[in-house]
Amino acid sequence: MGRLQKILIPFLGLVLAFWFYSARENFKPEMLKGKRVIVTGASTGIGEQMAYHLARMGSHILITARTEAKLQKVVERCLELGAASARYVSGTMEDMAFAEHVVKEAETSLGGLDMLILNHVGTSYFGYFNGDVGHVRKLLEINFLSYVAMTTSALPMLKESEGSIVVVSSMAGKVGFPFTVPYSATKFALDGFFSSLRQEFSIQSVNVSITLCILGFIDTESALRAAAEVLLVAPAPREECALEILRAGALRRRELYYRYGSTRLPLLLRDWAAELLDYLVRSRYRLDGLK
Ligand code: NDP
Repeated sequence: MGRLQKILIPFLGLVLAFWFYSARENFKPEMLKGKRVIVTGASTGIGEQMAYHLARMGSHILITARTEAKLQKVVERCLELGAASARYVSGTMEDMAFAEHVVKEAETSLGGLDMLILNHVGTSYFGYFNGDVGHVRKLLEINFLSYVAMTTSALPMLKESEGSIVVVSSMAGKVGFPFTVPYSATKFALDGFFSSLRQEFSIQSVNVSITLCILGFIDTESALRAAAEVLLVAPAPREECALEILRAGALRRRELYYRYGSTRLPLLLRDWAAELLDYLVRSRYRLDGLK
């Protein structure tokens, strides 16, 4: 038995390492060359970095957010970096008609769509739940319903291209996190909607992939502003995070965990030791840093 364990455990380790690394190496930037891609929330943060990576890979890029001046600059930089084409549409995702309009723009200007990257996120507060139901409703519209509206409008084009939907979520959409109650609710909703939709695609043989991205703490300006004083973990770099998201989308992965060690591994506790996981999550906060 002892000898069997000595052989079996390293062997399983090798198989897992081979599987993990061979899957990672399959990605080639040419996979996204000439692809028609929408990136939402691309005026700053991870979305902006995704736009730059796509530009270097030679994609056709349509970006969106509310702040026109920032979008203009991102588009200019994308063109300098080698994008096949780059354009923007500005507006708010509180308005479902605008969400649909962005998809229409891809149809009109790009003649179709290969990848829909849903990444934008509305502003919320970082602190104890304050009972503001109106805020929860508004955040659900921005962070969840607009994702549903864009997916619905984009589906005919994505079916045609056998394309991909990439949904940017969070650890806070897989396990309860304190101080971000409305935000967490919207991210859990994304998992429910897109994981169920993936099942239906499978039953109906719809060849559109759905990649749900579970991110830990990333060093974007807004995240650092909200949580750097309170979270006892080091943020991961947004440039690398953006590339990992694109890689997972291009490889049509079911889910991405970034960074793997600080997201996937703790989540393994969720079904078997939920209270331990809750405790570990709580222990990552410095309460005296709360504003
Ligand atoms: P940022 O706050 O840096 O960027 C958010 C983007 O969304 C901006 O482009 C913003 O532009 C846009 N946006 C905000 N409100 C609206 C609105 N009402 N309508 C349309 N666009 C809007 O976010 P990050 O880059 O940090 O996060 C990107 C994604 O990653 C999000 O889905 C987030 O939940 C997820 N994530 C991030 C983590 C992190 O630590 N950074 C951790 C886990 C997940 P504008 O203001 O111009 O509209």
